[in-house]
Amino acid sequence: MSKRDYYEVLGVSRSASAQDIKKAYRKLAMKYHPDRNPDDTEAEAKFKEASEAYEVLSDEQKKAAYDQYGHAGVDPNMGGGGFHSAAGGASFSDIFGDVFGDIFGAGGRGGTRANRGSDLRYTLELDLEEAVRGTSVEIRVPTMVQCETCDGSGAKKGSSPVTCSTCGGIGQVRMQQGFFSVQQTCPACRGQGKIIKDPCPDCHGQGRKEKRKTLSVKIPPGVDTGDRIRLAGEGEAGLNGGPTGDLYVQVAVREHPLFRREGKDLYSEVPISFVDAALGGELEVPTLDGRVKLKIPAETQTGKLFRLRGKGVTPVRGGNPGDLLCRVIIETPVNLGKEQKELLKQFQESLEKEGHRQSPKKSGWFDGVKSFFDDML
Ligand SMILES: [Zn+2]
Ligand SMILES: [Zn+2]
Repeated sequence: MSKRDYYEVLGVSRSASAQDIKKAYRKLAMKYHPDRNPDDTEAEAKFKEASEAYEVLSDEQKKAAYDQYGHAGVDPNMGGGGFHSAAGGASFSDIFGDVFGDIFGAGGRGGTRANRGSDLRYTLELDLEEAVRGTSVEIRVPTMVQCETCDGSGAKKGSSPVTCSTCGGIGQVRMQQGFFSVQQTCPACRGQGKIIKDPCPDCHGQGRKEKRKTLSVKIPPGVDTGDRIRLAGEGEAGLNGGPTGDLYVQVAVREHPLFRREGKDLYSEVPISFVDAALGGELEVPTLDGRVKLKIPAETQTGKLFRLRGKGVTPVRGGNPGDLLCRVIIETPVNLGKEQKELLKQFQESLEKEGHRQSPKKSGWFDGVKSFFDDML
């Protein structure tokens, strides 16, 4: 059986760039890789063919020899002139290191893996006042801690884990797949490198146990929903003596009956009677620091915002405090008595005599409606 042309095998032209050759090979290798085509001899043959072609065409020297002499130039069995490959049983590892490095992961680390414990997240609900002023809270978090009975080894007291005989303690084994080998996590010890024959009864060989621990957390003033406080080393215990993870306390501020927060400003609604709105007056409004007096000028309309400087929130990252913005809402009176209704009717008649001069919006609205209908006629 004569060999196919290497360029033909990879499906590239003779003038293809090194990049194109690599790309073409990669595509074929992915398609015919023995891992993806177990027990498929045809795929394996194609894979081998493509690998051989790539081994030659990716090497400047071999490629030159091949271009000049054809297969005779690179085949070590053919003798003669040209290039003599040092690789009798062509080691493909060089190629794989280059092309597959990022697919298969570059080799296994020797020794047992010491895994860092997981980070934990805890959502802490706070009242607005607590978030603004800062507070200190105790939280109980479920977490994995090192088992005290076995000191984290997972082995029953008096015994200790033994080195895994399958992988010799490395945690990785080489598996022959098709014609090349792949490094895999040891199935016997699951990559731990050690096997526990007599597991600790308290943690069932895990070396860690779930435990609720109480932590005191200091909340700095000014935090808001979404802010996180990191407690280093308060997460889950690591595996095999690995470092402990961190605990993130995530703040969630509860809704407040009076104030709504936007950044460093606070908003609140202040209901006032239409009499106060019309005549003006002074009212007491609540702030987070207690009551303050707010002057309402005469003829105040509903929805008007009054700014109380510095009565907002001092941000947790520093800076000037925000403001408190009070939105005045004029209330329609309810539960009116007979006498009150009578007075309002008299009041209304008095207004009508003057043609809504006292209702700036209403008179404007009437004008608009009038011209709207006039235009239709
Ligand atoms: Zn234990
Ligand atoms: Zn093992």
